Amino acid sequence: MQRHAPVKPLWFCAACAYGWPCQQARAELLAEYGTGRLLGLDMADLLTEGIKKPNQ
Ligand SMILES: [Zn+2]
Repeated sequence: MQRHAPVKPLWFCAACAYGWPCQQARAELLAEYGTGRLLGLDMADLLTEGIKKPNQ
């Protein structure tokens, strides 16, 4: 079974090809981190990485 992981730098799901995080990825992230602060910090990092433009 393929993990619902992001394909960078396009940010779609490697397993189901939806925009990442797809519904399954969100569920897995919640299961992994719980709903606490760690998830928020991790997502902030991912978002920062995600909004970087290649030409800047
Ligand atoms: Zn997925």
